[in-house]
Amino acid sequence: MKHTVTERFLRYVTIDTQADPESNSSPSTEKQKNLSNLLLKELKDIGVKAETDDYGYVYGYIPSNVDHPTDSIFFCSHVDTAPDCSGKDVKPILHKAYQGQDIVLPDDPEQVIKLKDYPYLRDKVGEDIITASGLTLLGADDKSGVAVIMDMAQQLANNPEIKHGDIIILFTTDEEVGQGVAHVNYDKIKCDYGFTLDGGPRGEYCEETFSADAAVIEIKGVAAHPGYAKGKMESAIKIAAKIIDTLPKEYLAPEATDGSGGFIHPGKIVAELEAARIDFILREFDTSRLSHLAEHLRTISDKVLQQFPHSSYTLTIKEQYRNMKDIVSAMPRIKKIAYMAMEQAEIQPHQSMIRGGTDGSVLSANGLPCPNLFTGMQAIHSKHEYISVQDMEKAVQTVLNICQIVAAPSLIES
Ligand SMILES: [Zn+2]
Repeated sequence: MKHTVTERFLRYVTIDTQADPESNSSPSTEKQKNLSNLLLKELKDIGVKAETDDYGYVYGYIPSNVDHPTDSIFFCSHVDTAPDCSGKDVKPILHKAYQGQDIVLPDDPEQVIKLKDYPYLRDKVGEDIITASGLTLLGADDKSGVAVIMDMAQQLANNPEIKHGDIIILFTTDEEVGQGVAHVNYDKIKCDYGFTLDGGPRGEYCEETFSADAAVIEIKGVAAHPGYAKGKMESAIKIAAKIIDTLPKEYLAPEATDGSGGFIHPGKIVAELEAARIDFILREFDTSRLSHLAEHLRTISDKVLQQFPHSSYTLTIKEQYRNMKDIVSAMPRIKKIAYMAMEQAEIQPHQSMIRGGTDGSVLSANGLPCPNLFTGMQAIHSKHEYISVQDMEKAVQTVLNICQIVAAPSLIES
């Protein structure tokens, strides 16, 4: 099999598609459409029926080539890159047959990808590694997923002997600013289930994400002339500060938790003497525990406000997304197919939990179970981002195997 994934990846990363969290438009940056339009053209060139829309989403349709019914599936990745680090003028560098050395990035020699910081590199000795040049991120998140899906489409077109059911391709914009599937037209992706290609190390399979709520505390204090405030003033600034200071520090804090631990995280505070507002995010894997976090916040606030008898506060909770595990694991064949596909590609599958959300969380909640698969991306959202060519090729083989297993229902039942 002659892969196109690397050649595609090296081209796609040079197109700046950085998303902008401050923007009110969709997509948040027009330039994301530059890649969407290229993908649309390339899909059509391959012979895939495809379309794009005002949001820069790309939909592609590959009809079944077998005459029995099969599951219909989709593959999804996002064209945008993170706001955390520049994605302009990305210069990808291919380090052939990596030998285990620290990698100094030439455009800023202070940027060194060190083996001791990134132990996964140890597994990559002998493989070909792609990095950026030191001034930008690489954009493997998620142009590796895009390139993997495009190579899959190419391979299916070149090799009609590969049997598959109906396949839909979805490329989204603005995933990095939490709007990845906000404008999906669900009529266009009517499938049984699908996969995002937006994961890390080879073999990674993820059907567990955080469940997430947003919490807002709005405080009303009592203003007074500071020169004559004795016994009158109740500063909303000080109330807000006290609430933050009373939050748990050794647990339920992002800087103190990993693995399956959840947290309460104050992300923003706007405060004046008379009024203050604190924006929190609440995160837990176990959805039922989210309400405990909200209660915790309420208990803390009540206690603080007791010291300010003429002030008041409100706490508002808003649902953000839910752990997709309940939805995905209700259809056990999805994981079975993914694991079989990886084993056929001589990959050891392993399950991991995402301490965040994915487009798949939202798609799953909307009736499209959608776990996440590896592409190989590492050190994402940073200048140290890197990816192995061989990991991307394994991801292509995995998705092609998924297509073939889905087309052979007897394989899944056995
Ligand atoms: Zn991503």
